[in-house]
Amino acid sequence: MTDSKVTARVKGVRDDIVTIEVLTDAEGNYYPVVKNEVIHICPTRLGLDDRQEFLKAEVLRVRHGEADAQVFENTRGVAIGDSVEQTGHMLSVTLGPGLLGQVYDGLQNPLELIASQHGFFLPRGLEVDGIDQQQHWAFVPIVKVGSTVCAGDVIGSVQEGRFKHKIMAPFNLLGEAEVTWVQEGSFSVSTPVARIRSNGEDIEVSMQQSWPVRIPVCEPLLRSRSSQRHFPKEPLLTSIRLIDTFFPIARGGTACIPGPFGAGKTVLQSLISRFSEVDIVVIVACGERAGEVVETITEFPNMPDPKGGALMDRTVIICNTSSMPVAAREASIYTGITISEYYRQMGNNVLLIADSTSRWAQAMRETSGRLEEIPGEDAFPAYLDSSIRALYERAGLIENNHGDMGSLTLIGTVSPAGGNFEEPVTQSTLRTVKTFLGLSAERAYKRAYPAVDPLISWSRYLEQLSEWYQENLGEDWIGQVKEMHTLLRRSESVQQMMQVTGEEGVTLEDYITYHKGMCLDQVYLQQDAFDDVDVSTSMERQQRIFELLRDALSQQKNFPNKEAVREHYIKLTSLFRNLNYSREKSPDFKLYMTEIQHLKTEFD
Ligand code: ADP
Repeated sequence: MTDSKVTARVKGVRDDIVTIEVLTDAEGNYYPVVKNEVIHICPTRLGLDDRQEFLKAEVLRVRHGEADAQVFENTRGVAIGDSVEQTGHMLSVTLGPGLLGQVYDGLQNPLELIASQHGFFLPRGLEVDGIDQQQHWAFVPIVKVGSTVCAGDVIGSVQEGRFKHKIMAPFNLLGEAEVTWVQEGSFSVSTPVARIRSNGEDIEVSMQQSWPVRIPVCEPLLRSRSSQRHFPKEPLLTSIRLIDTFFPIARGGTACIPGPFGAGKTVLQSLISRFSEVDIVVIVACGERAGEVVETITEFPNMPDPKGGALMDRTVIICNTSSMPVAAREASIYTGITISEYYRQMGNNVLLIADSTSRWAQAMRETSGRLEEIPGEDAFPAYLDSSIRALYERAGLIENNHGDMGSLTLIGTVSPAGGNFEEPVTQSTLRTVKTFLGLSAERAYKRAYPAVDPLISWSRYLEQLSEWYQENLGEDWIGQVKEMHTLLRRSESVQQMMQVTGEEGVTLEDYITYHKGMCLDQVYLQQDAFDDVDVSTSMERQQRIFELLRDALSQQKNFPNKEAVREHYIKLTSLFRNLNYSREKSPDFKLYMTEIQHLKTEFD
């Protein structure tokens, strides 16, 4: 900030949009301003403690001699004629060791640090380093003087908690560079650890680098072909039966969870973050009510990690409440994605949960409105669809230059007003993602958790990953899953019929179908998040239970009457539920298995 100079002045202020008038240089040319550049508005009227404030803003639109910028702060007291300084760079995050375990706001200000220094709210116009600049990390180089590196190539590593954090050559490096100096030892993130010579220029490389959030980290690497994108090949196992068996999410894939309030969205998200087979979890809590965000940041750090240690050790949280400026809310998702991409580039499996993308889209709508852009459906900008698509496209599977495969799985939640799925954000999202886990208030009301409605949910990955399923769960797996899904559908339609006609109005055969479907729902789809065993079911166990259950449900039986049908399936359901609560190989587990086998011979 110190070496920047005044190159523009404030011309108008409309909420958090500031129009600036660009000044001309000695030759009479306008100073160049580009879209997405970060500028600082410096109000003439000084801040509380007579401090000169620098209000961070991002240029959204450039016209001849003028530009509109969204300010990430409250614009109170900004006046026409106030000076504007340009930074010459785009809205960026700092990437390096020390990100894990942090709770940030949308602009990567560490909230804990702010709270300890300034109380809960960051005074306006103050910026805090995204990663601790004092902490030392033991850097171990893997390159030597004379080695050749390209953008994104690993030059060494440090131990960040339980992770080997790879330090990579700058992602914007052009072509090949030669290492001319490298040092091993304990340094702060800003200390140079290597020097490389690229196109005749010496570049110092430290453990941190800055990257513009609106450009995917892998973009230059894919362009230069040092990284490659692959199609997702395997499911991201979550240990939630309903997801893994019926509506899988691919590792490196995309999914959407809509949640009417109280349908169990928070519990489901925390289950997915805790039990999914991923290395790192990034949570963007964007624009929720302050209370919910506080819940996330107070609960999360205390959660135990099934892999040992605390979950927070491998988590980064970005949060903005709806009371924070709209622009910061809009930026938070990009900050989260960029950090996720960074860890993916090292070869990690990363899960990003964006909650909620509706609030992000609303922030976009507000900004677009203030810019007086031509509105599309429901006053959302006409580019809503492409913005949503571009967001989800940042998920995926990437192979880096060293042959390491990293994945970024993106699960976004949407919160359609009044549960109306027809609204544009939900519609665009559904066109983009490949798994839809439709939480239903009705199921939550019946306490059928996870309250994902199997009749409205879908996943394209069952087919797309068919090779994986065939190899790992058998040739018939997908067919069997579909068969069980059909059973649910048929059971539901019998239930609807019975609501009109009563039990007497349906045939014995339909009555059996109804009970089979109920049994499948209760013992397999429903899973108790508050039981130590049932909370998480390995894929191996899922397969075993699924096959056992399917076997029990496909048998043709000679029931004498409906009473016998009901009793049989109630017994079966109860045995399977007990089985779900028993640890594998425990005496209980064996006992219930035997009883299930016995029950199978009933009414043969
Ligand atoms: P939302 O975030 O959609 O408002 P929550 O996730 O907070 O809803 O869930 C509301 C309540 O529902 C929880 O407090 C819990 O009692 C119950 N619940 C939600 N999901 C489950 C689950 N998988 N197993 C058991 N109970 C659940």
